[in-house]
Amino acid sequence: MNDRDPVESLADIRHEFGEHGGVNMSVEASTTFTVMDPETIPEIFEGGKGPDQGGCYLYGRHYNPTVYNLGRQLAAIEGSEAAYCTSSGMGAIAAAILQVCKTGDHIVASTAIYGGTYALLHDFLPSRANITTSLVDINDADAVTAAVTSRTRVIFAESFSNPTLRVADVPALARIAHGHGAKLIIDNTFSPLLMAPLDWGADVVVHSITKFISGASDIIAGAVCAEEKFIGGLMDVQTGPLMLLGPTMDPKVAFEINTRLPHLSLRMAEHGRRAGAIARELDALGLEVVYPGLPQHPDHELAVHLCREGYGFGGVLGLDVGSEDTANRLMERLQNGYRFGYMAVSLGYFDTLMSCSGSSTSSELTDADKAAAGIPPGYIRISVGYTGSLEQRLDQLRGALAEVGLS
Ligand code: PLP
Repeated sequence: MNDRDPVESLADIRHEFGEHGGVNMSVEASTTFTVMDPETIPEIFEGGKGPDQGGCYLYGRHYNPTVYNLGRQLAAIEGSEAAYCTSSGMGAIAAAILQVCKTGDHIVASTAIYGGTYALLHDFLPSRANITTSLVDINDADAVTAAVTSRTRVIFAESFSNPTLRVADVPALARIAHGHGAKLIIDNTFSPLLMAPLDWGADVVVHSITKFISGASDIIAGAVCAEEKFIGGLMDVQTGPLMLLGPTMDPKVAFEINTRLPHLSLRMAEHGRRAGAIARELDALGLEVVYPGLPQHPDHELAVHLCREGYGFGGVLGLDVGSEDTANRLMERLQNGYRFGYMAVSLGYFDTLMSCSGSSTSSELTDADKAAAGIPPGYIRISVGYTGSLEQRLDQLRGALAEVGLS
């Protein structure tokens, strides 16, 4: 692992001034671009004369200067040669997988993944494309190796799993993947800056920008970060899944996200500081709290090894209160009685968001797969925000816990 600091990498890339010397880059809203020399058109189409190869921009679904600029910034953060920005996290995940897998191929994925990704792998891809997935405990290297077949092209895991917060052993998974000629794709949605999976050997990083990177729960967006060749392939006019399925990011969205990257590190640090303090408080009260920063977490040592200092252990924690009914009563009090946060799916917002995973963002999983993933019915995922003061939030939490008889 190199000791690259993603915040410094972002600051190091050349800042692009706006059209009139503005301190912000300009928004290039155009979907199509003038070609000065008609002879170059075939080469541009074949990808041999893009904006970085002495050619020009062609069409917005392919490359747009503003979206391209955001891609460069995300690539700098993740330490990849290139990145492509998509209209959602699911668009990024689906495109990355379809870039590697064709019909008949096989994927080994973690049992602990976001419900939408689970549905893509478990239901959609087998029925639509004959791409099958074996779900395994990704922290059990023997189980991962045993699940690999001669058709396995991808090992897929989340850096910090949604919602169970298991930490992927990226170097070990990379060794297994590369030993079998497969690619390791890591969804780094929960841990931008905190973990840099490509630095630990992953081949592709995907993001739901919708979460921490955006930070305001007002934009759906995603990204794929990988080698130049891989990203170029996503945009191939004949075979590129992004080019042909079309989940392109809008330039105005790209501009918005670009204004939020400079303070991502400050936000991630405060999310992590608050989540750690709340996790310790819940632990001290004797509750079943899941947070990789707690020494009893099964992946604590791994998290210490893989994560960058200064961001705690992420902004999300889990709390198992025993039953869905108790979970609902606690969330209702926390929202309506104490204004601690909101009952809402998603995460990475500046306010605290809470959801009972089994009946919401992991409801796509069969009961058996929920059990295998370690999602009990009373499990609440809490994405810890940074509004108000920490002391105020801890008081609100204590009050609500006491009201529902949990302390
Ligand atoms: N990956 C993870 C870990 C997620 O939590 C989510 C959404 O919750 C997604 C991907 C999908 O992202 P989007 O909603 O931006 O498509």
